[in-house]
Amino acid sequence: MVERILITGGAGFIGSHLAEKLLDAGSQVAILDDLSTGKFENIQHLAGRPGFSFAIDSITNATVLDRLASESQLIVHLAAAVGVKLVVEQPVQTIETNIMGAEAVLKAAARYRAKVLIASTSEVYGKGVRVPFREDDDVVLGPTSRNRWAYAASKMVDEFLGLAYYQKYSLPVVIARLFNTVGPRQVGRYGMVIPRFVGQALSGNPITVYGDGSQSRCFCDVSDTVRALEMLLENEKAVGKVFNVGSTEEITILDLARRVKKLTGSDSPITFIPYDEAYAPGFEDMQRRVPDTSRIRTMTGWKPRNNLDDILQRVIAWLRP
Ligand code: UDP
Repeated sequence: MVERILITGGAGFIGSHLAEKLLDAGSQVAILDDLSTGKFENIQHLAGRPGFSFAIDSITNATVLDRLASESQLIVHLAAAVGVKLVVEQPVQTIETNIMGAEAVLKAAARYRAKVLIASTSEVYGKGVRVPFREDDDVVLGPTSRNRWAYAASKMVDEFLGLAYYQKYSLPVVIARLFNTVGPRQVGRYGMVIPRFVGQALSGNPITVYGDGSQSRCFCDVSDTVRALEMLLENEKAVGKVFNVGSTEEITILDLARRVKKLTGSDSPITFIPYDEAYAPGFEDMQRRVPDTSRIRTMTGWKPRNNLDDILQRVIAWLRP
């Protein structure tokens, strides 16, 4: 039997890549997306493919969600507020979308016993300083007066709720904590550093390093992230558990700016912008963020195939006019 999979937020950056991969693998794919940050252009090329359908609507439309859930064996829940910039600027929308969205999806899934994969985020590790981050580490968040932490807290509620549905109702739920993911179709508008740096370098504008650039991240290619999600969906043993999904190749943001400048052959200057100016007064950043991926690797054999240079070359090719 061909599996039918619902992807909430399927017109977004990660969702559209996942939809493509699942269709290639012979699944039927339905997308539910309100196009708040997703874009129809991301899925336009899939329209007309056998087994593909989409509904442009909110996950809070209970009627639509119920119908789609009733027709699906699997639900990948990617619909969420995304991007630190958006999260800081739109706190009400962030909290409501994340919490009410996950609740609606789990309720609908429970009605039809559909398996659910909830996309969570490395933000939940907050200000933890013991790297690499392991799934069962304690979590250190900042105060409620700082909007950024609302994102982490709301995604933690999603995780709690998903695990509670698993424990209480035996609903098959898997949680994937996605670390920084990059690739074609990601836009810099909501803060994401790589499309921003590449766009700035290609247009000759200053490359804007926030803070002193000593903060570091690990960037995972979207094709690797999507493969991890597929492997988690297929693995029965993944149910009821949380998994880190990300690269372990760490780079400081200043070195990233230099690397982008070199690979694009750009003359753009590298400028430093204080966090207060870039985001909001009192903004707190994470100094280091590195995943421990041994749990997913042990269970599924997954590890990233692309390194940072591969990723940057692909983003440059995509953004080059
Ligand atoms: N950043 C930067 N310049 C930009 C955008 C982001 O220096 O134009 C920094 C940001 O402050 C953070 C890192 O790049 O330290 C990664 O930011 P992003 O928003 O991509 O992801 P995050 O890891 O913060 O979720």
